[in-house]
Amino acid sequence: MDVQALVERVHGELKTRTDEGKVADYIPELAKVDKAKLGLAIQMLDGASFAAGDADEPFSAQSVSKVFTLTLALGRAGEALWSRVGREPSGSPFNSIVQLEQERGVPRNPFINAGAIVVADVILSGHQPREAIGDILRFVRFVADDDTIAIDPLVARSETETGFRNIALANYMRAFGNIHHPVEKVLGVYFHHCALAMSCRQLARAGLYLAGGGRNPLTGSAVISTERARRINALMLTCGHYDASGDFAFRVGLPGKSGVGGGILAIVPGRAAIAVWSPGLNARGNSLVGSLALEMIARETGWSIFSP
Ligand code: GLU
Repeated sequence: MDVQALVERVHGELKTRTDEGKVADYIPELAKVDKAKLGLAIQMLDGASFAAGDADEPFSAQSVSKVFTLTLALGRAGEALWSRVGREPSGSPFNSIVQLEQERGVPRNPFINAGAIVVADVILSGHQPREAIGDILRFVRFVADDDTIAIDPLVARSETETGFRNIALANYMRAFGNIHHPVEKVLGVYFHHCALAMSCRQLARAGLYLAGGGRNPLTGSAVISTERARRINALMLTCGHYDASGDFAFRVGLPGKSGVGGGILAIVPGRAAIAVWSPGLNARGNSLVGSLALEMIARETGWSIFSP
């Protein structure tokens, strides 16, 4: 299979459809992004890499960063994390507050906003926000093997100024005792990791440890145990696309995490990590063309966790 030819073909076919989605505009800084962008990168475990389009242009990782903060928080809290965050798909939008009341401040999973805010609270333990943000950035640079990755301060500020729903979620969970630090500090950590700027190529490399059973074979680093990598992949499959996670599993069949910046990281266990970026979102807040691109790649390569 000529994977480079495939990513170029997918790029060529879908480039004309980038005007269909709607850019996230509830974060003013994201509303400025050019909707015509389309990047694709595949990083294989054997070292080969393939890319097309705007694969080297950094974009706002947004919720894709939650994969890395979850990995870090599990390293800090271990299994105890699961007493504060669930592991079930929410079936609700990413920023919904309704379930939190019935479930007494324990978010359904670590990938919806409320869950990721609890994860940020765990990473903040024993630190100041600046140190916690530094830890997250160092971790992402380590897994991507790239020290040039940075946080976009304009996006972080834009979210801080307009993140009223996230402020509400954090305060609500604090009322139930599930946020242990001052809300503004926790949100400072959360908004900054959402503002990580990464290219498709960097993101695919950063996700490689999840394809490699917890190990990045390119750097030789053992990042996490095989069991933990398997479990994070399971959560990405069941909860990685908000209330469209079932549809993504049905159409693509790979663990994936999307973000409102238009990025999606998908994992092909034992084989590769794939990153796509197209800022136009569909009605469920997932990259419209990015989802189509992954669907095409999965179909053409036959890569799926549901087939031999
Ligand atoms: N920073 C975004 C928010 O909190 C993340 C949303 C997302 O990508 O799902 O609204």
